[in-house]
Amino acid sequence: MTSTRSNPLLRIDGLSSGYGRIGVLHDVSVAVHPNEIVVILGPNGAGKTTLLNSISGVARASAGTITFDGEDITGARPESVVRKGLAHCPEGRQIFQRLSVEENLVAAHIGRGTKSFEALREDAFTLFPILKERRNSSASRMSGGQQQMLAIARALMAEPKLLMLDEPSLGLAPKIVHQIFRIILDLSQTGIAILLVEQNVQLALECGDHAYLLNTGRVKLAGNAQEIASHSALGDLYLGHVTEDSLHV
Ligand code: ATP
Repeated sequence: MTSTRSNPLLRIDGLSSGYGRIGVLHDVSVAVHPNEIVVILGPNGAGKTTLLNSISGVARASAGTITFDGEDITGARPESVVRKGLAHCPEGRQIFQRLSVEENLVAAHIGRGTKSFEALREDAFTLFPILKERRNSSASRMSGGQQQMLAIARALMAEPKLLMLDEPSLGLAPKIVHQIFRIILDLSQTGIAILLVEQNVQLALECGDHAYLLNTGRVKLAGNAQEIASHSALGDLYLGHVTEDSLHV
């Protein structure tokens, strides 16, 4: 990090967290600066979802601090975190299957920022024209890609400064995955910072600015996305035989 970079929008320092007595993350430090796309990589069970859950207040921190937009949000409740402008689009989408597209958007609108519901809905429809076409369809009748678009649109109803996306490409056809990544880049262009958990390592590193590799609840590699992409330990980490010696960017 150079001294010319702005202050981080999100700063996580020495975070340890988990569920009840189960410790999952250990001494994790991550920073997301305004306008950045930061990618969190790691094999199954590494703690990626737990990191996002800890930031959004779903998993409890036992040590360390989480600062967002200059405010300490460690231990804050999920509804208070989203009201501060930090939206979470969770793994598995978690949209209301029996509600229509429009009703899902209404339910996600919290009136946090300056825009009206109608203006935010129009923004979402501009970003995802298919949602406008299907605004009265129930979510359960839509394809996986359309449901993912609805999940992102729901998160955007909170007018976030930072959007956390947990595996948005999961289970989607390659063409739709590319569409979703295009949208992520477009969102970033509008000034929303992105914290992206992704299993599609190549695409994520192509679109990200910085990346962190987690394994067994610890940060094993951190750096510029291009450096991480070319790091020899990347493949090893996914195959599970990384050594501490090989982990230097
Ligand atoms: P994946 O790519 O498989 O989603 P991940 O890197 O997101 O993995 P997490 O889902 O954060 O990993 O899980 C990290 C560890 O925490 C795993 O050992 C998992 O079993 C455990 N864990 C996850 N959720 C809970 C929970 N609600 N209660 C207890 N343990 C949990």
